[in-house]
Amino acid sequence: MKIGVLALQGAFIEHQHMLDRLNVETIDVRLPEQLDAISSLIIPGGESTTIGKLAEAYNFMVPLQQFAQKKPIWGTCAGMIFIAKHLDNHHQPTLGVMDIMVQRNAFGRQVDSFITSLDIPELTTYSPEPFPCVFIRAPAVLDFGPSVQILSRLPDDSIVAVKEKHFLATAFHPELTDDLRFHRFFLDMTINHHKNF
Ligand code: GLN
Repeated sequence: MKIGVLALQGAFIEHQHMLDRLNVETIDVRLPEQLDAISSLIIPGGESTTIGKLAEAYNFMVPLQQFAQKKPIWGTCAGMIFIAKHLDNHHQPTLGVMDIMVQRNAFGRQVDSFITSLDIPELTTYSPEPFPCVFIRAPAVLDFGPSVQILSRLPDDSIVAVKEKHFLATAFHPELTDDLRFHRFFLDMTINHHKNF
């Protein structure tokens, strides 16, 4: 079992460090051929317009869409934007695979970044405490299709973590914390997906 981290741009090394701590073998994916060797893929935070442009330049779009039909993907922050089917007010290359409408930079310039702890019921199987969520020019989910499960909201009701079948998306950055539970959750999603496939 190997988990890939898309390494075109952004915070991919931090995800690898988290997976290292879980003793999961990782591949930093820089070429479409490498998708064949992995069981699931993390698309990191960074700048979604840059990730989209590089994905087009390196001929990743079609291989990634085919990958998405078969294997789990987790998008964090810019990665959430990149996998969304719909964006509010932005035209940029996206994979368009997860049935969510996402607003980029949903928290405005004044609150560029913030950290807050949120209760995420799905993670309490690992341990009960709230999860530390790091938001950096973060997006939020404005709307979603019937198969989407909401994992977490901010106190103002903004939706910031969602799951749809084998897709996971978080507006915040679990890879910038010490808490391994979200990575463990995605690892379990990957294991279960391949068991049932
Ligand atoms: N604001 C960035 C974007 O729109 C995302 C920021 C992040 O990934 N931390 O792509």
